Amino acid sequence: MSMDPDTAVRLERMFRAAQDWSVRWGLTRLMRDVDIEFAEDMGDALGRCDLRTLQVRLHGVLLDPRNERLLHETLCHELAHIVASVRYGTRIAEHGVEWAGYMKMAGFDPRPVVPWSAVQQS
Ligand SMILES: [Zn+2]
Repeated sequence: MSMDPDTAVRLERMFRAAQDWSVRWGLTRLMRDVDIEFAEDMGDALGRCDLRTLQVRLHGVLLDPRNERLLHETLCHELAHIVASVRYGTRIAEHGVEWAGYMKMAGFDPRPVVPWSAVQQS
């Protein structure tokens, strides 16, 4: 992935935000354990996570500067799945109270799906 300086700055902001959420969630080593990658072949999904490998995939469209807030929300959404599964196991409801609680702690409205209408595309 080629990366312009502005993208690098946004990614750094993203990692800083994620580190801040990790501290609030009481899992300070989360970002060391999680692997994040961007992909274009995501189908309809803006983000996905694998609870076994702790890999998070984010849609490349989220790297558009206009989508920075959605980038943070989507990463937080996936990380909240990981934290909820670490704390409560994998039998909880996917977007249940545990997941929603972590989203709120990070300052996000816990919406299970981000509509594509909210995404800026060129
Ligand atoms: Zn989800």
